Amino acid sequence: MLTTRPTGTNDFLPGESEKWQYIEQLCRQVCAEYGYQEIRLPIFEHTEAYLRSVGETSDIVEKEMYSFEDKGFRHMTLRPEGTAGTVRAFLENKLYANPQPTKLYYIGPMFRYDKPQAGRYRQFNQFGVEVFGADHAAIDAEVIALAVEIFRRLGLTGLTVKLNTVGCAQCRPSHMEELKIYFRQYEDKLCATCRDRLERNPLRILDCKEEGCKAVAKGAPTTIEAACDVCSAHFQKLQEYLDAIGVRYEIDTNLVRGLDYYTRTAFEIVIDSVGSAQNAIAGGGRYNGLLAQFGGDDLPGIGFAIGLERLLLTLKEQGIELPVSTAPAVYVAPLGESAQKEAFVLTQALREKGIYTEKDYLGKSLKAQMKAADRFHAKYTVILGDSELEKGMAIVREMTSGDQYEVQLNQLAEDLEGRLK
Ligand code: AMP
Repeated sequence: MLTTRPTGTNDFLPGESEKWQYIEQLCRQVCAEYGYQEIRLPIFEHTEAYLRSVGETSDIVEKEMYSFEDKGFRHMTLRPEGTAGTVRAFLENKLYANPQPTKLYYIGPMFRYDKPQAGRYRQFNQFGVEVFGADHAAIDAEVIALAVEIFRRLGLTGLTVKLNTVGCAQCRPSHMEELKIYFRQYEDKLCATCRDRLERNPLRILDCKEEGCKAVAKGAPTTIEAACDVCSAHFQKLQEYLDAIGVRYEIDTNLVRGLDYYTRTAFEIVIDSVGSAQNAIAGGGRYNGLLAQFGGDDLPGIGFAIGLERLLLTLKEQGIELPVSTAPAVYVAPLGESAQKEAFVLTQALREKGIYTEKDYLGKSLKAQMKAADRFHAKYTVILGDSELEKGMAIVREMTSGDQYEVQLNQLAEDLEGRLK
């Protein structure tokens, strides 16, 4: 127990953590270019926030929440997604008083009590964006383009944007009734979960992955057919805007997403390579009406989240090496006790110049230190022996060529700085 991590969680060790930093930095960079600012939120919220937003019939609320009662008997939940917290913070901090739209992003861990498997964890990380206060389809196209741009810069291939429109407060109620009437005819062909969904949320049957349900769903009235004029026009415009910037997409009439708050636009980005079940690496959509459900003004909203573990898995599957390096520029190898202190001083001087420098701390032999410098992939090794020190000199070895030269100790830091430029 003491040395076993909880099921469904991951340790990201050195070697892997640099990749995380790289991806997070890329997300931040792209957000800066698109004008999205970071919001940092609590890891837990009042449970009510998720019941109200994600929805009572969603998988998250029905079975996946990490909920607990705190010492003051309040119901709290570790955040399963980022939208509810962002909406809460937007309203609580009165960000609606600023000129709109508000364009935000977050990066951090989410928690869902799900059956762990490759690409599905109980603690996982999402990078997500949320935009409040803009209803124009250009914003829908922009957030999709932002996600696609991150994947493009990483060099990912085999990526499909799946797109649908899922209805709004005007057209959804009558569509739900139509769906109930349709699915009741085939109730015996549906899986147990979908039979249960039939009366409560028949829309979800459309994206069930069970073969029997998929076959029945093929003949069901689609959200596109049921869309009201406003939803249809919005969907049409979104496609025109995506076409205009060359973002390719596929319309998927079965895409409804698992969270209840979506209206109009719903999308997912899937990668061909990540197994068949866990191939979605990003998902999102519009959620007009959600802010009103939280008691705010009826401002529109839209957002998406990328699953960062799945993104890293996909990079690995596609053999994409991120340009991250942990190799020191300089390895300092002292021989003997008096050289140790000199090496320590030199190491500090190099680091003060912003040069990544490693040294031996264990009093190893020269041979062992040269091996260590190789293992670190250091560019240069500085050898400080007693006889060199007596002359006020050090030996610098260029590790790939094996070339060596002597440098005066008091010029060493500047010399290396110049060579590394
Ligand atoms: P969602 O918040 O459900 O729309 O999910 C958005 C993205 O988060 C998905 O496309 C996945 O990449 C990722 N994701 C969702 N659930 C998990 C999970 N349990 N483990 C790992 N990644 C997940």
